[in-house]
Amino acid sequence: CGIFAYINCNVSRERRHILEVLFNGLRRLEYRGYDSAGISIDADGDGGLTDLRGLAMPGFCPLVFREEGKIEKLVTSVYKEVNETDLDLDYSFMNHAGIAHTRWATHGPPSPRNGHPQSSGKGNEFLVVHNGIITNFMVLKETLLRHGFEFESDTDTEVIPKLAKFVHDSLMEENKAANGNGGKDIQFSQVVMEVMRQIEGAYALIFKSPHYPNELVACKCGSPLLLGVKEVGEAENRGVFAETELRLAKEGGKPKEFYFASDASAVVEHTKKVMVIEDNEVVHFRNGAVQIYKFEVGKARTASGGLPRPA
Ligand code: GLU
Repeated sequence: CGIFAYINCNVSRERRHILEVLFNGLRRLEYRGYDSAGISIDADGDGGLTDLRGLAMPGFCPLVFREEGKIEKLVTSVYKEVNETDLDLDYSFMNHAGIAHTRWATHGPPSPRNGHPQSSGKGNEFLVVHNGIITNFMVLKETLLRHGFEFESDTDTEVIPKLAKFVHDSLMEENKAANGNGGKDIQFSQVVMEVMRQIEGAYALIFKSPHYPNELVACKCGSPLLLGVKEVGEAENRGVFAETELRLAKEGGKPKEFYFASDASAVVEHTKKVMVIEDNEVVHFRNGAVQIYKFEVGKARTASGGLPRPA
């Protein structure tokens, strides 16, 4: 029922801070009503993934935490797990993209496995938080099952991360076949636009993937989504990377923090610079900058990258 994301770019933030921003975002969205909550942040460990070219993926490994019930229950269980797994709360990320969700179940009863972020499967190659309903999820699920995907939840949402993985892998294969290993990389936003061509219903979505460390893609159709941008001043920015940050600031690449939220109440405490995302817009965070694309609904792909669109 509410989605939230926090991205710090060229500004060092401790894991503790990142977690608190995400939890606070969820607390602000609480009044919208919810039955479960969840977040995803990065571990600093090796994700253990290789891409289709066999290259090791950067050392990013998204962790997923989901709980039924109150946000404070999620908070407690995240800190418990963080302590047990020796994740350093003081560890500073120069760039980090975290996502969060409060769920109001439409498909599948409230439970940790039906909570969001929903995952593409092993390795959390694609993670999605979703506000809304996917009306054609059954058709997509059947097709994905035929392609060997195994489903772990009862949600309509789960088809989205799985479709993203399917699209990503197909585009990579196609690319490899056409160009060998020197082919052009597939953009995260490209994967999301292919997914948008397949899904029907109402949605605001935020995607995270270890294939695209420190990037996020968000899009919407029918459900609300806002983007907040904050330029971080010197006084607030005294982390371990301060020198790099200062250099970036001099070069004009100001350290920034970005927020996505279902409504302004979760963003205004951080920044007054808030922008409303329109239907069929795709917002891509990459290298500290935001690009907004207008998704063209009618242009269906015919190559094998997309699933056949159900009649
Ligand atoms: N339809 C999705 C689900 O039931 C998302 C519901 C929501 O907007 O919270 O999981």
